[in-house]
Amino acid sequence: MADTSLKQILARDPDEKEFHQAVREVIETIKPVLERHPEYRQLGVVERITEPERVILFRVPWMDDEGYVRVNRGYQIEMNSALGPFKGALRFHPSVNLGILKFLAFEQTFKNALTTLPMGGAQGGSDFEPKGKSDDEIMRFCQSFMSELSHHIGQDTDIPDGGLGVGAREIGYLFGMYKKQRNEFSAVLTGKGLQWGGSYIRPEATGYGVVYFAAEMLATRNETFEGKTCLVSGSGNVAQHTAEKIIELGGKVITLSDSSGYIYDPEGIDKKKLEFVKRLKNIKRGRIEEYVDKYSETVYTEADRSLGYNALWNQRADCAFPCAVENEISENDAYNLLNNGIKLVCEGADMPSSPEAVKIFSDKKLLYAPGKAANAGGVAVSGLEMAQNRMLLNWSAEEVDRRLKTIMQNIHQNCLDVAARYDVPGNYLAGANIAGFVRVVNAMLDQGLV
Ligand code: NDP
Repeated sequence: MADTSLKQILARDPDEKEFHQAVREVIETIKPVLERHPEYRQLGVVERITEPERVILFRVPWMDDEGYVRVNRGYQIEMNSALGPFKGALRFHPSVNLGILKFLAFEQTFKNALTTLPMGGAQGGSDFEPKGKSDDEIMRFCQSFMSELSHHIGQDTDIPDGGLGVGAREIGYLFGMYKKQRNEFSAVLTGKGLQWGGSYIRPEATGYGVVYFAAEMLATRNETFEGKTCLVSGSGNVAQHTAEKIIELGGKVITLSDSSGYIYDPEGIDKKKLEFVKRLKNIKRGRIEEYVDKYSETVYTEADRSLGYNALWNQRADCAFPCAVENEISENDAYNLLNNGIKLVCEGADMPSSPEAVKIFSDKKLLYAPGKAANAGGVAVSGLEMAQNRMLLNWSAEEVDRRLKTIMQNIHQNCLDVAARYDVPGNYLAGANIAGFVRVVNAMLDQGLV
């Protein structure tokens, strides 16, 4: 049944390669569930869970600082609402297209299911490039984007969140426009500013959650972060807070990157250096290369895609945290990681490991956790932000952090329990996919053919 369904799904949208990659991976790992439930074939379960409930595509016209009109494309993929209102990130990046957003929305459906909070799966965004734009241009773009999106979202239907290229600044502009258009101050977005409905720990949640998850993985081998050398890619929201929590738990972070290149700091990026990176990236909006001007012991290496591998993953270390972008770990990178002594790969980004890399990690019995489980802390705290908004109160940072840690520990345990139940002990990928699939499918079947 699985192979026939997969063929049909791939044939329907032949150009959507990231979506195919995500679907193929899930279908491969849920085969034991499909074998136990032959009735799923007649019920079209796989076909239904892989087809978005709704796709919205729209024009986003805006004016640049020179007075020229620019036109981008906006999307909102409402993937699955079996477990709750649609919920997923927004992504602003020039690479955005339908296939990328469908892969993210599909992954998000499983991720949200794993949190056990009442959230369906979605993803939206635009092929807009925020890099190099002035604040005014960002604001005008966000306002135009929201002037259309506001017709389709709402606090009971679809609640977008921040994501790659969409941080606190963008959420502010988007929220302002929604409020003006709909004349309502509602919990329609998460990742909001603390003074106007945001939650403590939301900015930190994805990165902290990744490290809480990794700490649980290490604990299965009676190990901790103390003294571990770690590679982190990216230098945005997820990378910064992953690095922060690793440092707090006694680990040493020696790399960070952006799309132009990476820095290698053999002394380790301590708290003070990380504060510099946060200012550089979040306020000055500079490039990671500038780290070397401040800390001269560090080496900066420009990205060279012609090499066929990323030199960042070719450093001696114990743990690797890809926190930048999909498919950033190729087959060559996976071998380099192994040869450099890596024992754990925990994904902060969505689908950063290519299928070839995942196969190598699993063949070599590395501790490997997929993003949909390990980076679920961000959306989990967004769920907690929604809960606080509904109650018109704010939990303390300690309270939210405590809940985040518990959620990550529960996801970790659930992945392990489910993997063991399906005879693939220690396989976090299979555990996450099966646990998410079963939860969403049961809800879909309860609600009839809709
Ligand atoms: P940010 O926009 O804050 O940061 C993204 C980082 O990745 C930047 O340093 C960026 O560099 C780098 N990057 C982008 N493209 C490439 C590339 N082709 N090669 C190398 N580096 C690249 O995004 P986030 O930190 O929020 O998101 C990172 C990942 O985590 C994404 O996969 C996202 O989907 C996922 N994620 C994010 C969550 C969140 O709460 N923010 C929640 C769950 C998942 P540059 O500045 O040069 O573009």
